[in-house]
Amino acid sequence: MAETSAKNYKFKAEVSQLLDILTHSLYQHRDVFIRELISNAADALDKIRFKDVQGDTFADSDLPLKISITLDKEARTFTIADTGIGMTDEELKQNIGTIARSGTADFLKTLSQEKEGDLTLIGRFGVGFYSVFMAAEKVVVVSKSADPHAAAWRWTSDGKNSFKIEPAPSATKRGTAITAYLREDAEEFSEPLRVRTAIEKYSNFVPFPIELDGETVNTVSAIWREPKSRVKKKDYHEFYKFIAHQHEDPLTWMHFSADVPIQFHTLLFVPRSNFEHLGFGRDEEGINLFVKRVMIDPHAKEILPPYLRFVRGVLESDDLPLNISRETLQENPYLMKIRNTVVGKFLTHLAEFAEKQPDDYAVFWEQHGRILKEGYNDYSQKDKVAALFRFNSSASGDEKKLTSLDEYIERMPEKQEEILFLSGASRDALVNSPALEFFQSRKIEVLFCYDPIDEFVLPGLLEYKGKRITSADQTDLGKLKEAVPAESGKDEETGEIDIKGLEKLTRRMKNILGVRVEDVTLSDRLVSSPAMLTGRDKHMSSQMEKIMHMVNKDVTLSPKILEINKRHPFIADLLTIYEKDAKDPLLTKLVNSLFSSALLLDGTIDDPHTMAASIQELMIDTAGMYIENKK
Ligand code: ADP
Repeated sequence: MAETSAKNYKFKAEVSQLLDILTHSLYQHRDVFIRELISNAADALDKIRFKDVQGDTFADSDLPLKISITLDKEARTFTIADTGIGMTDEELKQNIGTIARSGTADFLKTLSQEKEGDLTLIGRFGVGFYSVFMAAEKVVVVSKSADPHAAAWRWTSDGKNSFKIEPAPSATKRGTAITAYLREDAEEFSEPLRVRTAIEKYSNFVPFPIELDGETVNTVSAIWREPKSRVKKKDYHEFYKFIAHQHEDPLTWMHFSADVPIQFHTLLFVPRSNFEHLGFGRDEEGINLFVKRVMIDPHAKEILPPYLRFVRGVLESDDLPLNISRETLQENPYLMKIRNTVVGKFLTHLAEFAEKQPDDYAVFWEQHGRILKEGYNDYSQKDKVAALFRFNSSASGDEKKLTSLDEYIERMPEKQEEILFLSGASRDALVNSPALEFFQSRKIEVLFCYDPIDEFVLPGLLEYKGKRITSADQTDLGKLKEAVPAESGKDEETGEIDIKGLEKLTRRMKNILGVRVEDVTLSDRLVSSPAMLTGRDKHMSSQMEKIMHMVNKDVTLSPKILEINKRHPFIADLLTIYEKDAKDPLLTKLVNSLFSSALLLDGTIDDPHTMAASIQELMIDTAGMYIENKK
């Protein structure tokens, strides 16, 4: 066909931006482009294999499924050809060029955030093809779709702003061939030894033969089907890097096979870092699902629940039907059984990992804990999931030291019935919170929660190993007092306290504060602070209420109860002033300030202006009185 039928297209802006970074990179791991191209070729071959088992018709059904790499030192080219699914002209245009894949922007963001922008991660973001421009100054893709009626097309680009698509009638067989015209400084990728090393490093696990200049270089093996004793740690690491497009070793993995009642093999890995946690949106979830050696779905979401979406791996079963569709997969009774077994085993694996490698588990929790916590409502695995949770606690020496619910229960006084937690912005905020005083004075441990999601997770669990889980600001203090008596009994003495007088004082205080408080009461829980605010709503902890208010300003914060400390000298002073003159203006000012300080500690101050004014008035009064006294 004539040259005139060639069409030019501009790359999508984001793609151009990415290409600009790639073409100017002098990155030392440039050989990842080989991994990415091989991985795309393997995907294309998988799609043919899948069509085949489905009984679909496609072009050149007698072609062997393989990948061939040919190098030409003189011409300085690297060519990779596959007999896979191929692409039509429209697919060429969309897949590599004009449609920005959702990962492009995310990948650009990682590159700009990480100091040494890690280009090896490119494949994770679904833009692996473009990595070829790290080594090539021009790339030609010739492709013929497996569609029996499709023609062949040639895509050409120098990786700057545009690409060209034209007919390629000389290509007569199904598949794709990509030729990279190497940059002078990337000449090494036309040398067989160099390329062979890269294939061995990254692509040993490709389930199709890879030929290099006519010679097969990989051993096609499915390591998940091998007995554990035969697989070396190095193989696991390499396999993980291959399937996860990763350069780091995995944190831990589980290799498990079952024979009865259902036969399956699985190999699951936990990555060392969590991308979602870094703010790059939700990762493409799911593990590779194979049935009788055929990849049915590269991202099967039916096996692991969403709270394990950070896991990468493979599952293969010969008991599933080959022609299974995604819709029927979910309801397949075999798959349901497999899922239950795999999830249970994997959670057990994590528990053992926590016990044997506590330092690595700390990394795990830091990276994936937030997602794992979403598992609190998996009722079939609840205790197993909850056993993996970690919290900081009043019994921890510092913010870094975390505890499990099992450890908490072990330390609990025998008669304490509930697991207690308190939420707040930080350890400092909670340690200094009046809400904690009662528990501190009795050495009752309280779990500290700094993550808003804990407000759903902990109450959502309801109980763990027979112990109810309750917010410390909602627990029944009377019951707790009986279960865990104070060490000295000191805070129980009420002898010298004028309860009647204090009750009158609380009524006067309510009068002064008006609608700002629901009530003013004598506290059971305060030990060293003069006052604190407590929630009125028994179903929502005050932290939860704050979160709801933050999310939706229409949720108003309900007026709180101001609890005052019966034994605090400041409260005694208020009582003295009150008894001399219930209308003393100083009493009003002091009560207002006490309320403001309680609001501050509660983190719910809305009106800093009034508060500052009242503090300043008090300062003026105090200074005046002091000078008066000195005279
Ligand atoms: P990803 O492979 O993660 O989707 P890439 O940028 O590597 O991202 O590839 C983009 C798309 O181009 C692929 O999803 C696929 O549809 C198509 N593609 C790339 N290489 C091939 C190939 N060798 N054969 C068929 N299609 C391909």
